[in-house]
Amino acid sequence: MERIWIAGPCAAETRDQVLETARQLVEQSRHAFVRLDYYRAGAWKIRSAPDTFCGAGDEALPWLREVQETYSLPVCVEVMNARQVELCAKHDIRTVWVGARTAVNPSEIQQIADAVRGSEFTVLVKNPIIPDLKLWMGNIDRFRQAGVRQVIAVHRGFTDAQENVYRNAPLWQIPIELKVRMPELPILCDPSHLCGQVKWIPQVAQLAMNYGFNGLMTECHCSPEQALSDSEQQMIPAAWAEMVSGLDLRNDTPDLALVKQRAKLENIDNQLSELLYQRMMIADEIADIKRKNHIAVVQPQQWQQVVKRYQIHSEDVAYQEFIDKFLELLHQSSIERQQ
Ligand code: PEP
Ligand code: MN
Repeated sequence: MERIWIAGPCAAETRDQVLETARQLVEQSRHAFVRLDYYRAGAWKIRSAPDTFCGAGDEALPWLREVQETYSLPVCVEVMNARQVELCAKHDIRTVWVGARTAVNPSEIQQIADAVRGSEFTVLVKNPIIPDLKLWMGNIDRFRQAGVRQVIAVHRGFTDAQENVYRNAPLWQIPIELKVRMPELPILCDPSHLCGQVKWIPQVAQLAMNYGFNGLMTECHCSPEQALSDSEQQMIPAAWAEMVSGLDLRNDTPDLALVKQRAKLENIDNQLSELLYQRMMIADEIADIKRKNHIAVVQPQQWQQVVKRYQIHSEDVAYQEFIDKFLELLHQSSIERQQ
């Protein structure tokens, strides 16, 4: 499957910003021998807070058409309703995406699907913010049933109440399962919304390529620090071109069964490493309380309770031996920290 590279600002802000970002992207992509397949920009932004920048709205469409005509570069825009689909068509914009928030509402998705029915739209379907593969697949099916020939999935991570390094939880096993169930469907990664910060983007982009994703949708801005939305996750066009040209793109299709298991492991490792750290922090707090109340550091009965919690798979002798060693280490380091 051909790779698909999409880049452009989070939002269309002004005509100058839209055209300047496009100009730099085109220039940098040529310079780095990277293909730029689509220019992205949000015209209508649904933001969490109502008094933040909501996009330039209808006014942005002529600017985007200008990019399309100037650079012979197809533009894609997020749509949330049938009226916006119509406006895109009116401005010769034939590629649209549905965002992660819209994707939680099948009724809205159906209305958008009905609006693109019968016209030559390419539709990108972002994952819903909740980790529900059935819902994501249902949305894809709604566009396919509306006769859309080119449907592309976009993974941008999932909302997670926990504090994470990334803005959204990747839960790689979900897009990989989508790949297993719909092998002919191109899946892109949106590392910008996934990471929330530029510094994580290249490593996540490479990981997505290793997992067999078919390309990237990346947010780029000519002056990220002045961006009116998602400023921390927008790359400058030169950094984007350098990143894409530096990706290790293996030609062999990865073994999906292996990739799926590895993604599960990665997810468990991430959680385990965070949980172990949280456990240490709680142990430190307990140590403070003990100190204040003059309670002994080592309390054998308390530790026996802990050991019991780790005996639920004691039928697996080798595993239990490992756990016993692990607990010894855990206990030892806990005591050392408390002293
Ligand atoms: C976007 O791509 O501009 C966007 C709002 O993304 P998401 O729907 O993934 O949050
Ligand atoms: Mn954004």
